Amino acid sequence: MREGSLEAPTRHPLAWKDPEFRDQAKAEKELGRIFEICHGCRRCVNLCTTFPTLFDLVDNSKTMEVDGVAKEDYWKVVDQCYLCDLCYMTKCPYVPPHPWNVDFPHVMLRAKAIKFRKGVKFRDRLLSSTDALGKLAAIPVVAQAVNTVNRLKPARAAMQAVLGVHKDRELPPYAPKKFRSTAKPAEAWPVKDGKGTPGKVAIFATCYANYNEPVMGHDLVALLEHNEIPYVLVEKEACCGMPKLELGDFEGVDSLKQKNIPVLAKYAAQGYAILTPVPSCTLMFKQELPLMYPDDAEVIAVRDAMFDPFEYFVLRKKDGLLKTDFKQPLGKVAYHIPCHSRVQNMGQKTREALEMVPGTEVTVVERCSGHDGTWGVKTEYFDNAMKIGRPVFRQMAAVEAKYISSDCPIAARHIMQGIGEDAKGAIKAHPLSLLRKAYGI
Ligand code: SF4
Ligand code: SF4
Repeated sequence: MREGSLEAPTRHPLAWKDPEFRDQAKAEKELGRIFEICHGCRRCVNLCTTFPTLFDLVDNSKTMEVDGVAKEDYWKVVDQCYLCDLCYMTKCPYVPPHPWNVDFPHVMLRAKAIKFRKGVKFRDRLLSSTDALGKLAAIPVVAQAVNTVNRLKPARAAMQAVLGVHKDRELPPYAPKKFRSTAKPAEAWPVKDGKGTPGKVAIFATCYANYNEPVMGHDLVALLEHNEIPYVLVEKEACCGMPKLELGDFEGVDSLKQKNIPVLAKYAAQGYAILTPVPSCTLMFKQELPLMYPDDAEVIAVRDAMFDPFEYFVLRKKDGLLKTDFKQPLGKVAYHIPCHSRVQNMGQKTREALEMVPGTEVTVVERCSGHDGTWGVKTEYFDNAMKIGRPVFRQMAAVEAKYISSDCPIAARHIMQGIGEDAKGAIKAHPLSLLRKAYGI
């Protein structure tokens, strides 16, 4: 057997509709098989707390092998995984097509699906319902009340006790006005298709940009407008489904997919590029849904029309269709590339875009921040999230940058919280906001 694969990694579709997928005994057998390979390898020990949990269980067992670990303890390993995909994408030499067929995140996801069917906490269902929460909190008076409660220590202590949301986690505020209801309508620019980029854009706003940080959406719109690219907001949208997928709630993902895909497929068929400002949502359409529905032509059409915004802008530049009339240098930028951008396999497109701006020095920190969507909010994982993020906090603070930036707005908040006073006045700004600032628009 060859040690490690020389071919490009591939991913097998997720057999989530197959009854065997949720067969606990079969899933535990597969977990044991993969744990055995990981125990003999241990390359991923410093990626997250999943692998140290597994290796501690093995090392403290009677046999000091995987066969000494009780099956019930496998689930402790599963709980630590927040499905960032980094072990699969950046470390593992045994991923398919290697015959050992190690897809660690996928076996974790299978286990999470089994756990979800057995019942999960109310807190987990609530946190994964980003759209419903956002709709409620976006009512101005409710938004104000939620934001106030989130800042009050006694209220946060109660929230921790009742809901399991850690009292020290800095939560994103809800905006009084949604992005979708306040976005500026586009000018009627002529459509200029490039070799690698469609000349018109459909924006999938995302729950986060819509309800929490509408500025990200407004910045994206301003950048398109400045570059004379006509855009529309996707007519009807629901959550992309990533928070539900991370919980193993495949039926929840399926129901959101039924809402989003027919609408998005229409834009894809009309030749639009579809952009979302949040990497996890982009990844959901680029990778996760196609793995769940490999034979669904609409899902594949949406995948092919989907771009990360900076991927789009860099390709637009290649097409000779991006303006470079930058007016303002950005100075030093400490930029964190999120895991869900890395696994899109597109290179460091945000860095490339920011480096187009004269007088800008970008330092890239390429390590998991440890937050994930909802994982680092939960009481039982908060300390681990802060621990995993420590190298990122330290490296970003060391840059002594003017701006702290990440494509993932949740990671950016987490990083700012972790850096604390060491930020020394550095400003948190999303890369879309930075590019807008550089254009002076
Ligand atoms: S997917 Fe991410 S969190 Fe899960 S085991 Fe791999 S590196 Fe760790
Ligand atoms: S996921 Fe792959 S690289 Fe990581 S410990 Fe397991 S076998 Fe090794």
